[in-house]
Amino acid sequence: MSGLVTLHGLGRERLTGILDKAEGYVGRGPSTDFSGATVTNAFFEPSTRTRLSFERAAHRLGAHVMSFSPELSSASKGESFKDTILTLTAIGTDVLIVRHRLADAAALAAGWSARPVINGGVGSREHPTQTLIDALTLRQEFGRLDGLRMAIVGDIRGSRVARGHLIALPTMGVELTLVGPTPFLPQENPWGVRTSTDLDDELGDVDVVYLLRIQAERGSAATIPSIAGYARRYGMNAERLSMMKPTGVVMHPGPMNRGVEIDDSIADGERSLVLRQVANGVPVRMAVITEALEGGR
Ligand code: ASP
Repeated sequence: MSGLVTLHGLGRERLTGILDKAEGYVGRGPSTDFSGATVTNAFFEPSTRTRLSFERAAHRLGAHVMSFSPELSSASKGESFKDTILTLTAIGTDVLIVRHRLADAAALAAGWSARPVINGGVGSREHPTQTLIDALTLRQEFGRLDGLRMAIVGDIRGSRVARGHLIALPTMGVELTLVGPTPFLPQENPWGVRTSTDLDDELGDVDVVYLLRIQAERGSAATIPSIAGYARRYGMNAERLSMMKPTGVVMHPGPMNRGVEIDDSIADGERSLVLRQVANGVPVRMAVITEALEGGR
């Protein structure tokens, strides 16, 4: 594989192979496997988990990390996205990780750069490594993915995470239901998955409630009548948790808006997988960087 722009077209075997590789990195100490290699974080949108776990993943593989911040760079002087990508490649990197508000950014960068590109989250299109992290976390929790039922709850229309999940989780056997107020549900449903506006109706049937943040920066908040009303109908709280199976779990890709889509008692409760998702960011990104570096050599 030369990079990871999209999960589209990756079959079950391929996806499972990445998860297996990531599992092999869980708990593994630092190595010098890729000493001398350079990984560049080209993040044009804010990030905490993705950026830092790619950085830690690269360090664990022995690679150097170059980090680009738009506000500290010539992007703030008007340099184009294309010129920035060409510049980062010319300085010398072995792999580029791209986060951008434009949905096509990773594919465009892959076309311009001679080096493999990894999608670090683009527009509302896709966030492939988040999907792999969540698949790994679920596989660890339940020992399987096949037959698991997940309700993705919230701003699905604005969410790149949801779109990545829709592309790859059903391929690995997870059954998805999209839940939210109509303005948050996708206008088209090419995946043929169930949709619902009533969270309480779904809770008893699912193994996983996967909560999403309202993507205010993409204008989503203005599409619903009120945030407080949303929190009342769709916020995960103790009462709703009690409506799930005893083995049911709650996930969130972060950042969480506590008091909106998730209450403190759930976020910090023992059925929350949120911090395990974060921790799995490192081995999953080690696996993806390894494949990109191996393919790019
Ligand atoms: N961190 C995730 C993303 O970059 C989810 C979010 O921001 O709501 O898409």
